[in-house]
Amino acid sequence: MSQSKIIITSALPYVNNIPHLGNIIGSVLPADVYNRFLKQRNIKTLYICGADEYGTSTEIKALESNMTPKEICDKYIKIHKQIYDYFQIDFSHFGRTSTNNPQNDKDWIHTKITHEIFNNLVQNNFIFSDTITQLYCNELNMFVSDRFVVGTCSKCNYSKAKGDQCESCNSLLDANEIINPVYKLNTNYKLVLKETEHLFLDLPKLYENINDNFERNKNYWSNNAIGITKSWLEKGLKPRCITRDYKWGTPVPNTEKFGDKFENKVFYNWFDAPIGYISITAQHTNDWKKWWNECTDLVQFMGIDNVAFHTILFSATLSGYDKCNFNTTINSVNYLTYEGNKFSKSENVGIFGDDVMNSDIDSDYWRFYLISQRPEKKQTEFLWDNFENVVNGELNKNYLNFANRVISFTEKKFKQIPEIDKLLDIDKKFISKVNEICDDYLSAMYSIELKDGLNYCLEISHLANKYIAETEPWKIYKIDEQRCKTIINVIIHTLGLINRFMCPFIPTKCQLIFDSIGFEYKYDYLFINSYVGKTLNKLNKSLFKNVTREDF
Ligand code: ZN
Repeated sequence: MSQSKIIITSALPYVNNIPHLGNIIGSVLPADVYNRFLKQRNIKTLYICGADEYGTSTEIKALESNMTPKEICDKYIKIHKQIYDYFQIDFSHFGRTSTNNPQNDKDWIHTKITHEIFNNLVQNNFIFSDTITQLYCNELNMFVSDRFVVGTCSKCNYSKAKGDQCESCNSLLDANEIINPVYKLNTNYKLVLKETEHLFLDLPKLYENINDNFERNKNYWSNNAIGITKSWLEKGLKPRCITRDYKWGTPVPNTEKFGDKFENKVFYNWFDAPIGYISITAQHTNDWKKWWNECTDLVQFMGIDNVAFHTILFSATLSGYDKCNFNTTINSVNYLTYEGNKFSKSENVGIFGDDVMNSDIDSDYWRFYLISQRPEKKQTEFLWDNFENVVNGELNKNYLNFANRVISFTEKKFKQIPEIDKLLDIDKKFISKVNEICDDYLSAMYSIELKDGLNYCLEISHLANKYIAETEPWKIYKIDEQRCKTIINVIIHTLGLINRFMCPFIPTKCQLIFDSIGFEYKYDYLFINSYVGKTLNKLNKSLFKNVTREDF
């Protein structure tokens, strides 16, 4: 990272789905942790996310519920917001991509920016029209969107490929690349190929731009993002259709080149949803152009299934935006499974945001566990036994109990943070060992290796526990109060340091600790004696509670 301003994004969640723990750890939570870490170091950030609201899936849900698509979005966006609030996701702005009536309300900012980018792409000859065959349902009398198509992938024979993407081999699929397609909600409805005219983004012509963006930035990307993008570029790019025949979407504007031929069509979600990062910034601030320019770094968090949409397609789309030379970091994770199975609301597998809000388990505990299991390099599992062990053992016993003991003892014996008398070898060794781990922590966090960052916090906490066990301040107090004060000074400053490092992960508990020790530790290394004389307060509520599955 090289710039002074950083835009952080989380992949826009689809509005109709209630986010589950896999979604939370895939994008919003790591982005939040990273954002909090940078803000602590006074780096200027903007954290942008929002709901992806357009598409047939919303149209159909609206039809079934006897509501308008807008009403469906209004209903679900509230649920999304509540869930992210519960998880303490501190967005600069959580916006949305839809407007009341996309066909008329053309001044709306998302439509406006999408049109601006599209028009630039048209002017630069990156868009062409062609007649294609799409999957049509004779029973429903309409073209069926990809989300509602299921069939066999012609590339790997996986039998449950979705309309536009095979989850098994990660290929993006065209309509004619799916064998025996049927309508997902009624598999008796067979789908047939039918001709319709659409607009295409000329990816082969944009190959250089996309490849250049990849080569310039890949050193900052997750390995899976590098692998997926490389394989796309090696296979060669094909033009992608960017329009659709449904109504609930950003309308295609009339242009000199294509006239009004596409006025009844809308942009396909994958084309305009990522533009939402820009338009949601514009919803947040009138200064949005100062953010979306070459002096900004763009750090994008997502699940592995979203990589190609960002590194190939959004990268191509940004060619239509004149200030597109961002330094882009792609941070993508693998899947989290639930006790070995895939999350599914309809099959009641997994833990969803609404369940979590109703449990008796602190949101900090979920945050801590999820980061500790983050599928950074490979798929990982949510396991209840492991959840209990990690939270009760590593967080409660190793860190929070340590904090609790230190605060209680110091408050009771000294009221204030005592001064140092003389450091012994054991103190000096401890301090220098802690400072070595500080380097590891900082380097992990700046590289967005959050799981490692968290582990370094715990490592310092282990060391601190060991230091207490060896120096025995509780015993020494009765024999040599001066010596005890020195040990406590070292320990309290260490607690302040760990708490600063832990704060991005478990903000509520860390705030409680800061309130109690009377200072917010501001350094990235252990500097003892910095906060002498600060008055401690009793913890105003219990710091920890052991978690069991029954609390859920
Ligand atoms: Zn496949």
